[in-house]
Amino acid sequence: MLGSILLAVSRSPLARRAVSGFPVTRHVVDRFVAGEDAGDALSAVQRLTDARLSVTLDHLGEETKDTRAAAETVKAYATVLDALRPLGLGGRAEVSVKLSAVGQALDHSLALDHAREICAAAREAGTTVTLDMEDHTTVDSTLSILRTLREDFPSTGVAIQAYLFRSEADLRDLSYEGSRVRLVKGAYAEPASVAHQSKIEVDKAYVRCLRILMEGKGYPMVATHDDRLISITELLADRNGRERDGFEYQMLYGIRTDKQEALARAGSSVRVYVPYGDDWYGYFMRRLAERPANVAFFLRSLRSK
Ligand code: FAD
Repeated sequence: MLGSILLAVSRSPLARRAVSGFPVTRHVVDRFVAGEDAGDALSAVQRLTDARLSVTLDHLGEETKDTRAAAETVKAYATVLDALRPLGLGGRAEVSVKLSAVGQALDHSLALDHAREICAAAREAGTTVTLDMEDHTTVDSTLSILRTLREDFPSTGVAIQAYLFRSEADLRDLSYEGSRVRLVKGAYAEPASVAHQSKIEVDKAYVRCLRILMEGKGYPMVATHDDRLISITELLADRNGRERDGFEYQMLYGIRTDKQEALARAGSSVRVYVPYGDDWYGYFMRRLAERPANVAFFLRSLRSK
């Protein structure tokens, strides 16, 4: 219930102004966001890769209908990718892109051109791009952009959301050699006509999706903090003869860092999704919606100031 309210609030411009206006909010946001600029992002990359973790950098921002803002986002990715190049981390430091931040809501082909520019910059830096998945109305467009991008940039990956009814079919289409798929539960408020609503149904759908991914020929990126799903991943990897480098875990910056490090120490590949930038509102509200304890943490910080 609280989660649905927070997800609705995450799309309200009025609430955005109110929440962003609290002077202490930045302090709370810092738990989930690596900093405001490329320099902060690179410090996080250094810290995490030193701890044997891989990263995917997300320049925060979404849902723009402003062509200038979309072009600015492309520039921000070019800047960070340029700065990554001399570190020589290759695919250990890739980027994640929300197509809505590069113009998907304005024009499909503008978003494709922008995504292509980011993929070209990633290739120059010796790395690659994963497309985030946003609300269900964008899935067809995102998968179509993925198909086109992969003609020139075959390592481009995509996120698939287990809560959507369509996802098992999408995963079968994506289970070919060379495919890179990040499986997530799904973070948006979706109607019952397109998505499972209860936690138990979403978890069951995740397992069905995971089975398709692990049995397929692509590279599974298992993005969850859920211990039960991590155990099931281990079983499925064994059953399908996948070595440690035949799949990876992904978790969000600031969430279950102990688990991230423990998995990496045990020999698993673990990638941390590192958001940075000043447009943190939507991302932050989705993290609050996932866990009521985060809301309590936020409210406590407001009271203690
Ligand atoms: P949950 O059942 O939500 O959580 C399991 C346990 O993890 C919880 O009990 C708690 O201990 C811990 N936990 C989970 N969330 C939090 C939190 N916010 N704060 C503190 N502890 C927490 N969603 C999309 O829709 N599109 C995307 O492109 C996308 N990309 C993602 C990339 C990565 C690397 C990850 C990890 C998630 C991504 N998500 C994306 C979000 C995802 O859909 C889920 O909302 C989120 O991962 C929470 O689900 P969970 O699998 O961790 O399970």
